[in-house]
Amino acid sequence: MTNLTDLTIAEARDGLAAKRFTARELTAAHVAAVEAVRPLNAFITETPELALAQAESSDARLLRGEARPLEGLPLAIKDLFCTKEVLTTAASHILDGFKPPYESTVTQNLWDAGAVMLGKLNLDEFAMGSSTTTSFYGPTESPWRRDGDNRALVPGGSSGGSAAAVAARAALGATGTDTGGSIRQPASFVGIVGLKPTYGRCSRWGTIAFASSLDQAGPMTRSVRDAAIMLKAMAGHDPKDSTSAPQAVPDFEAALSGDIRGLKIGIPKEYRVDGMKREIEALWQRGIDWIKDAGAEPVEISLPMTKYALATYYIIAPAEASSNLARYDGVRFGLRVPGKTLDEMYELTRAEGFGAEVQRRILIGTYVLSAGYYDAYYLKAQRVRTLIARDFAEAYKQVECILTPTTPSTAFAIGEKSDDPIAMYLNDVFTVPVNLAGLPGISVPAGLGEDGLPLGLQVIGRAFDEATILRVAGVIERAAGFTARPQFLAGRS
Ligand code: GLN
Repeated sequence: MTNLTDLTIAEARDGLAAKRFTARELTAAHVAAVEAVRPLNAFITETPELALAQAESSDARLLRGEARPLEGLPLAIKDLFCTKEVLTTAASHILDGFKPPYESTVTQNLWDAGAVMLGKLNLDEFAMGSSTTTSFYGPTESPWRRDGDNRALVPGGSSGGSAAAVAARAALGATGTDTGGSIRQPASFVGIVGLKPTYGRCSRWGTIAFASSLDQAGPMTRSVRDAAIMLKAMAGHDPKDSTSAPQAVPDFEAALSGDIRGLKIGIPKEYRVDGMKREIEALWQRGIDWIKDAGAEPVEISLPMTKYALATYYIIAPAEASSNLARYDGVRFGLRVPGKTLDEMYELTRAEGFGAEVQRRILIGTYVLSAGYYDAYYLKAQRVRTLIARDFAEAYKQVECILTPTTPSTAFAIGEKSDDPIAMYLNDVFTVPVNLAGLPGISVPAGLGEDGLPLGLQVIGRAFDEATILRVAGVIERAAGFTARPQFLAGRS
């Protein structure tokens, strides 16, 4: 029998249905894999007892012929989703000991579909970052190494724990969240699939907020089909989130026809950014050739506002974050550092509870929202955001989706960019515009860079048309035939 932890979600589902193994066996194999990946620090909390108990009830259901869509499939959860009675940290000191009395809608949807929870995954503190190095619980390491270089690399971020766990075969799939690229960039860095759905496709209820107008939950998996399966279970209208869309959730798996003949796919000329590495250009060109070979038509398009996207994002996201994070005051959740007065208690708690990057974002956010600067920064950024969305709307008059690289480079070493916030922010140059416009985007592994590390291509879709980007991603996945495995797995069968 093949190693149970090497199966995709679709293969594991079919294997359970065919009774080739039980949910308990599948889960036990993953619980062992979670232990085996401890050196990567991908998990903040492991929940093996819960997983095995869930697996047993899944086995009972499978036996009764009552299997739900994700019955008995072990997944892991970014530690930004509140999970009832299970420690939820956002990788922040300020949430010390926080065990939510409620379950996020997205995770509830997964459990209602029969999924099994392996544990809670590491991330950049409050999902602010691109490297999973700002976690209070220490950095997560990528399971990959550069050719001929043994330095530990970042798995990307902020959903770096999710990326590392899925790439290292410690979970069949994981949830991520994406505010400016946090699903797609780590997926690209570790050679897996990551999908950010349309804003409003998945409920944000019970997911710890970073920037409410940008945050979206999505799946991180080892195949496009798995992303389709997981998204179907995660998505859906939720009366508890007024921004969740009252839209029917299509059968995304059925959309994977492999047929993209006649589809017009936009190639935005502004994504050829200055100083872009040749290997990224070459990868993008290969992607264009693949879709052409499959009968689609690449069309050059223009998204002229792209150059303002990062600046706009780094006003809007911190502004919203500064407001969202005001609730952590030492009174209601987690850490409390006593002071002589109430104000002093707030100050001491927030000074000790938030790390440097979170404090930087709060400072930027309160600055751009302050009386003298609100018009100059925040309002201006909101206007530019509208123009960025308009660029996409114009493009979608000509094309049905858009193909770009996911990231401007392969993964970097832990610590390599930590002292340069701007270099860190540049990671998201291709992903941020998608969040600003509220559109769906998927990263699919497309090859290896010169350093032997994975690189992804991104397909961006029209609002609520995840089906098309999944279909195109499926074609790219097949053409790329990405089978490289992270070095961490070497020696394990
Ligand atoms: N890297 C971006 C940031 O630091 C995006 C993070 C995210 O998508 N959560 O804000």
